[in-house]
Amino acid sequence: MKKITDLQGTFQLHNGVQMPYFGLGVYLSKDGNEVISAVKNALDHGYRHIDTASIYNNEEGVGEGIKQSNVGRGDIFLVSKVWNTDQGYDTTLRAFDASLERLGTDYLDLYLIHWPKEKSRETWKAMERLYQEKRVRAIGISNFLKHHVEDLLVEADIVPMVNQMEFHPYLVQQELVDFCHSKGIQYEAWSPLMQGHIFDLDNMKQLAEKYKKSIAQIVLRWDLQKGVVTIPKSSKKDRIIANADLFDFEINNQDMQLLDSLERGKRFGPDPDNFDF
Ligand code: NAD
Repeated sequence: MKKITDLQGTFQLHNGVQMPYFGLGVYLSKDGNEVISAVKNALDHGYRHIDTASIYNNEEGVGEGIKQSNVGRGDIFLVSKVWNTDQGYDTTLRAFDASLERLGTDYLDLYLIHWPKEKSRETWKAMERLYQEKRVRAIGISNFLKHHVEDLLVEADIVPMVNQMEFHPYLVQQELVDFCHSKGIQYEAWSPLMQGHIFDLDNMKQLAEKYKKSIAQIVLRWDLQKGVVTIPKSSKKDRIIANADLFDFEINNQDMQLLDSLERGKRFGPDPDNFDF
């Protein structure tokens, strides 16, 4: 694994593609000025990875933010996801085209199945086609527990390159992380800041004081040292910049274990085994 040394560092996916291990999440960033300036500010301050989805309804703004930034499309790792109601073979192909159109680009770096559904094996066949046609540099899944992954692999020709999961100190699921990594599937954290709840944890306050870093920087640094890609969300320029300032320190083994030990199976988002959308 590469050393975690700078904002533009990457983890290598199993097909050789380099995925920037740190990115900007834009869930709930409003389309228009809010998401445009978030994306532009992030890119102009060193981010090279943007995570959106068709269901976020802000792909047009993301595309506009990229255009307004000082960074070329080829230097950006752009991710979107196929929404549940678009799952299926033809519908996934159409959803992909629609996302490209809204984003104003002709390829994606990573396309994910947003949630496991009955049609996910069929959806995966469409993802494989998009990959083989070189319209997307990597394909993956999101919210797939072990049994979902195993079910997908029964008919898959290509092993997913990434699994994007809720991940933070209250939901580590180390067995799932290890399972994915054993299959060559890069683990990625969504809601790494517990949707803001991380800032209330006493352990985090103590670690932040000890390392003289912010709580966000501590938890995001923990993600990267665990080999997990992370995509914190903020629309505020100062937070976007500060969240990425985590390459001048290292969390020691004991404190890494302390963070791991906070695990309590607590979700702030939906349960992949029990959701109704
Ligand atoms: P998050 O854990 O990144 O937390 C975001 C919240 O923390 C926001 O309210 C933000 O204002 C606040 N925040 C950010 N930096 C801060 C700072 N320095 N100080 C104080 N508050 C700060 O939550 P998220 O947005 O749910 O997750 C991150 C990204 O993951 C999303 O934007 C999205 O791209 C992705 N995601 C994917 C899925 C999925 O199903 N695949 C689900 C949820 C999120």
